Amino acid sequence: MNRARILVLNAALGPLDYRIPPGMEIVPGSVVMAPLGPRQVMGIVWEPERLEADSVPDARLRPLLEVLPVPPLRAVLRRLVEWTADYYCASLASVARMVLASGGALKGAATMTEYRLSGTEPERLTPQRAVALDSLQGEQATIRELAEIAGVSEAVLRGLVNAGALEPVEVDCDRPYPPAQPDFLHAELNDEQQAAATRLVDAVNAGQFTPFLLDGVTGSGKTEVYFEAMAEVLRQGRQVLVLLPEIALTEAFLRRFEDRFGVPPVLWHSSLKSTERRRAWRAIASGTAQVVVGARSALFLPYAKLGLMVVDEAHEISFKQDDGVRYNARDVAVMRARFEGIPVVLSSATPALESLQMAEAGIYEKIDLAARYGGATLPTIEVVDLRIEQPERGRWLAPPLVAELKKRLERGEQSLLFLNRRGYAPLTLCRHCGYRFQCPNCSAWLVEHRLSQRLACHHCGHETAPPATCPECGTADCLVACGPGVERIADEVAEVLPGARIAVATSDTLGSPEKAASFVAAAEEGLIDVIVGTQLVTKGFHFPELTLVGVVDADLGLEGGDLRAGERTYQQIAQVAGRAGRGAKAGRVLIQTRHPEAPVIAALASGDRDSFYAAETEGRRQAGAPPFGRWAAIIVSSEDEAEARDAARAIGGKRPQLPDVAILGPAPAPLSLLRGRYRYRLLVNARRSAQLQDIIRAWLGQFKFPASVRVGIDIDPYSFV
Ligand code: ADP
Ligand code: ZN
Repeated sequence: MNRARILVLNAALGPLDYRIPPGMEIVPGSVVMAPLGPRQVMGIVWEPERLEADSVPDARLRPLLEVLPVPPLRAVLRRLVEWTADYYCASLASVARMVLASGGALKGAATMTEYRLSGTEPERLTPQRAVALDSLQGEQATIRELAEIAGVSEAVLRGLVNAGALEPVEVDCDRPYPPAQPDFLHAELNDEQQAAATRLVDAVNAGQFTPFLLDGVTGSGKTEVYFEAMAEVLRQGRQVLVLLPEIALTEAFLRRFEDRFGVPPVLWHSSLKSTERRRAWRAIASGTAQVVVGARSALFLPYAKLGLMVVDEAHEISFKQDDGVRYNARDVAVMRARFEGIPVVLSSATPALESLQMAEAGIYEKIDLAARYGGATLPTIEVVDLRIEQPERGRWLAPPLVAELKKRLERGEQSLLFLNRRGYAPLTLCRHCGYRFQCPNCSAWLVEHRLSQRLACHHCGHETAPPATCPECGTADCLVACGPGVERIADEVAEVLPGARIAVATSDTLGSPEKAASFVAAAEEGLIDVIVGTQLVTKGFHFPELTLVGVVDADLGLEGGDLRAGERTYQQIAQVAGRAGRGAKAGRVLIQTRHPEAPVIAALASGDRDSFYAAETEGRRQAGAPPFGRWAAIIVSSEDEAEARDAARAIGGKRPQLPDVAILGPAPAPLSLLRGRYRYRLLVNARRSAQLQDIIRAWLGQFKFPASVRVGIDIDPYSFV
């Protein structure tokens, strides 16, 4: 009897058995369609001995419908899916779905229609048509893309098709990407860089699992170094995956990549068009995509012959996914490298404490780049004590920082002010009755955005126009802004530096790759004097004329008592400081704080990273926090507050009593209402000896809640709200 065990892509179901119809050829990893009730589901053929399924007699099995025309998923990828689901307490189906993340790609080869100018002039030439004809020279794309390029409507272009001025071209959806050239342009590495590159190249050639921590100060040339290892992988005809934390970063990165390798890399991120997504997926699966640069989700794609992985800015918390499968791409990348038997490079100027600890334990090989490239010096860092150097009333920039900003403007140099708060003000209230504007869906204040004239919730996206009168007391023109956001700092700069050209750089203003690119271009051309930005500008950018960095409020990140608050503050400020003085001119950093004595501020000022990390490490050791102990969060939520609370209490009531596990809560989460759901949390703190996941699975497996209650498990959590 021909039976197959199928991991169906439906998280509510376990694996199911099917009959293999005569003539159908499958192997473990084949992607198939299977009947499920009246519907069809996609699934992956799995080794039956690795997955349990209900035993259904042969006679009752339904036949598989078809095998999809894609290469079977390799065993290493199946092992990665199993490991990820097991480690993060997620369903196999939800992890497998990240592998098959392009529906279109699975349907097989296809063509699509693009258009280009035919050379024929239309008989009637409207102004819109003239614009289109002018701007579409040399372009070939779909009508929708051409409309975007030309800035005219699709109707105008369809008119041009009918008039014969645009002609259709059938293109292969899977046309190959132009090949990257490993030796397109060589950087002359300095001795330190060369030694690091040689070590990585050797590891590539050895073709074994080797995790590296590439620990180099900002501007030391970490990217140039791992580019050399990538070139070696390309020479071998294998694939490279580079994970980047944020989409806004990619623009600068892509240009550097193209300069070095002659062509752009293959991109993978959430805002790809479906045609780009299918093309990338198929090229990754066939092995023709040589270098993939992507967000964390690129980690689960079916690379045919991966030779190297790089996690750039590996300390970034955006590698941690906080919904769906709650995984940490940095950690899963190391695991994938282990399964694949290849090197993985975690690159950072401010590594995560966990990564440093792994290096200390000898599990990761640490490579140091101690000096900035080309003789650029690290900036000097000074503290501005806000208790002594007080800003004027209603302002946030202290006199020493304002004086430095003025000097930069006079000299034609650039400044960067860092404040990790989008919008104009974090809280808006009525000056008459004290009413505070709060999100209806979340326990959070609405943030005023003056540029877009909205009050917005940064958690759920709820937005309203600022009302003319207070909704509570009816007073007109009563709103007052409390506290600063970047827009308000930009206003203050405009007042103290008349004539300065100011750019606000946040996810609101640089949300798309195009906007990010034009910001970078403007900054490089010297069209911006002062950049006011959030953490979006703390890394990746290289502006040689930028010589001053001001940290508006260094204490902001230390509030709230998060486990990683100190470490995160250190990383953010060290990264943003690293933007200063990257060219020939020396950089200077001023940190505004009310707590100059706080260990993290003192460490930044003295440049003593090692003793700061040592103290943090000791604190974590004593608290049994990662990497010495383990944490997991259990988040219980419902639209009904009582239901959420009762479910959380029921879970808490059956907590396991174990010597190496402590369980806190349940308690309302700090963000007790999020997107209309009430949230309660329990926090599990376990010694390393405990089988944390097994304990949680056994504990939570006793409960059967209605579908309106969600129980989320967050292993190694980063977010404590
Ligand atoms: P990091 O990633 O460590 O911050 P980068 O790789 O971005 O450093 O390098 C900083 C700057 O110095 C970049 O503009 C880079 O092009 C330049 N650079 C670094 N190393 C070299 C080199 N060997 N030759 C030429 N330019 C280099
Ligand atoms: Zn909200």
